[in-house]
Formats: sequence, C-alpha cells, structure tokens
Amino acid sequence: MNVPQLIFLRRLAPAFFACLLALASAPVQAEEVTAIRCGQLLNPVDGSLTRNAVIIVRGDRIEQVGPDTPVPAGAQVIDLSAYTVLPGLIDSHTHILLQPEDERGTPPIITKSQAFRTVQGVAAARKDLEAGFTTLRDVDSEGAGFADVAIRDAINKGIVPGPRLLVSTLAITITGGHMNNAGLNPDISVPEPAALADSQDAMVAEVRRQVKYGADWIKLYATGTLRHVDAANLEPLGQVSLEDVKAVVNEAKRWHRDVAAHAYGGDGARNAILGGVRSIEHGMLLDDEMLKLMVERGTYWCPTLSVYIPTEPEDDTELQRRIVASHKEVFKKAMRMGVKIVFGTDVGAFEHGTSAREFVRMVEYGMQPIDAIRSATVRSSELLRMERQIGTIEPGKFADVIAVEGNPLQDIGALSHVSFVMKAGQVYKAPR
Ligand SMILES: [Zn+2]
Repeated sequence: MNVPQLIFLRRLAPAFFACLLALASAPVQAEEVTAIRCGQLLNPVDGSLTRNAVIIVRGDRIEQVGPDTPVPAGAQVIDLSAYTVLPGLIDSHTHILLQPEDERGTPPIITKSQAFRTVQGVAAARKDLEAGFTTLRDVDSEGAGFADVAIRDAINKGIVPGPRLLVSTLAITITGGHMNNAGLNPDISVPEPAALADSQDAMVAEVRRQVKYGADWIKLYATGTLRHVDAANLEPLGQVSLEDVKAVVNEAKRWHRDVAAHAYGGDGARNAILGGVRSIEHGMLLDDEMLKLMVERGTYWCPTLSVYIPTEPEDDTELQRRIVASHKEVFKKAMRMGVKIVFGTDVGAFEHGTSAREFVRMVEYGMQPIDAIRSATVRSSELLRMERQIGTIEPGKFADVIAVEGNPLQDIGALSHVSFVMKAGQVYKAPR
C-alpha cells in the first residue's frame, strides 16, 4: 500500500466507524406483516395437505406457518380459504428472450433488434411470473447478448415485475454446431446466436467473459441440435471432449458457477456427465449407462418433454416421433433408477405463461403428481443451490407463495390456472 492510500484510509476510518454505529442504532424500518389464510396448504416435501393453515409473511420472508398460527394484530389478511396454497414454482429451463414466432422463419438475431427483444423479454417474464413461476433458471439468451442480465437486474431493482432470474447469457458452442446460423451466405457477416469456442482456451476465456458481464450459470452445448441427429441410428452430434467439459466446469467453479449442458445423448452427454456438469438438459437419447452414471454422480436431469412433441404438421416427421418415443422411455427409466429429475420446459419455444403443460406431460408419462410438483419446488431449489431460500413454505425462506383452485394432487391440470402469486412477499396476482 502506498503512502497516499494509507493517509486516505486513516482519514476515512473514523467516518466509517461512525457510520457503522449510526446504522447499528438506527430504528429498524417497520416491515409489513401479512397473514395468508389457506384453504389447504400443500407441502411438497411429504405431500401432506394441511387444512386452514396460516402463513405469516414479514417483509420478503416467511415468519411462521401452521394450522394454529395466530394472526398478529395489524397484519394485512389475504383470504385464500377457497384455494390450495403451495410454494412458488421453479422452471429450471426457460428462455425469456425467445418467443414462439422466433422458432419459425428467419432467426430473430437477423430480424429483431436487441432492444425489441428485451421489451419482449420483459413482457415474457411477467407472464411466466403470473403463471406461478417465481424463479426461473434462464438457460441462454438465444442471441440477445446480455439482455437477460439486464432484465434480471431490472426485476431485482423493482423496475419491472418478473420472477427471480438466474441467467446464463450466451451459450457456449462450436463452429458449425448448435446455435449457429445455418444455410447463410459465407461471404456475409452475421452475428451468431451463441458464443463459438473451438478450443479449451477459448471456452475458458468465454466462461470468464460471461461471468464478468453477469452470468449466474454457464450453458454448454455438449451435443448438436435436431438437425445434427443421424436419422439412421439416432446418434447426436458430440460437440465436446471430456477434457473440454472439465475445462469449462473447473473454470466455472473458480467463479462459483455451475454448468448446464444441453445434451441429447451419445458421447457428448457422456462427456458432460463425467466432466462434472450439474445438469443435463433434454437428454432424450440417454442410455442406461448414462442414467446410471447420473445417479452415481448426482447429476440432475431437466427433460423438457413437451417441447419436442410436434404441434405443426411439418414437424411431425418419423425422426421426430422416434425421438419423442425415446424421450418417454428414458423418462420412465430415469424415474425407476432414481435420477434427480427437475422441472424445465424450454418456454419461449412455446407461449410464455403456459409452462404448466409440462406437469401434465410428466404425469401422463407415469410420474406421480406430487413428484412432478416436487421437481418444480424442492428438487429445483437444490439444483440451484437455493434450498435454504426457496422451494418450500418454511420460516426464514422467501415468501414465494401461489394458490390454485382444486387439488393438484388429484388433478395436476389445476396448476395451469394459478389464481394467486406472491414473490418475496409482494403480491403480483390475486383472485378477482
Ligand atoms: Zn432451451
């Protein structure tokens, strides 16, 4: 430390301690207290339903919860006695900067400005929040640069409403792989929708750049996309070696970040699992050996089942049907083998605000409704390393609370019509 710095610190120190003292003695700002009367309260941990429970919310946190909890004097009361109340939902695979129309025709990176896409993303985030999703892991901005960071920060500052966002900025891919513009004139220069990195050094540098500009998660394309899948043997394009994955995971670890790998199956998926990524995305072509490895290593699986089911006649190809059939089989096997399945949808590829359709699909494929709800609450909170803050309605956690009519344990479709949404103690949607 040089002399001017020392002088500066000495001068600053008394003022600093005076400030601390003032803070310590300042009266604590009165926090708003809210009491939520629940018809029945669903606990996703054990699947129990408690009748007439009351949740006391102080500021942004849950203070108390239970059937005999008294309502403090002066508390604002929210009457949800006609509803089933449960923790705010977590979607662990979203794209707020992607809209359904972006999936058809010319890519949005060519037709839309980043400013316009950001405005669309703000509207999308609100829709997803109002559908009951209070936390999203947004796994890449689909060519909209760092706009996900901007939207996350604007939500956190209270400028716009939206879920709590964990964002991964630009995904890392290889030249010619997934998230490359395809079929364009090589003589013109067009920005690519992801970060192209063709060596371990380049991947490491890209992780650093993304963290520097605000990434909470790192997204790695370990396999290509559907156009790369070999129709003869359903082999996906492997994009990374084991050493590549290790390099990315280790660099992410330096910054306390985790890695999500887009991986359908094959070598790319195996390398992703062995290389230590925290979650495998999609995975419709995973084999038994990979599922076993995931159980052993505690790798999470975010299947995003619904998005692969064709909705347009031109998508309903034989290859697509085989992929969907494999996805269903892998899902059933993964449940039997005890893979940690987390709820994720790829919303953006379809209408924002409709992510609950994935619950219906999971149950249709044989999952118990309580397990589907768990995958979008406690299990997702573990994936995000936020199990102390979100995922259940317990004292000390963020007051993320939603309510639906009916009983989602009997009819999972009830989650498609969320009547009440509170995030961190703020009400964003209430019954009319
Ligand atoms: Zn996705």
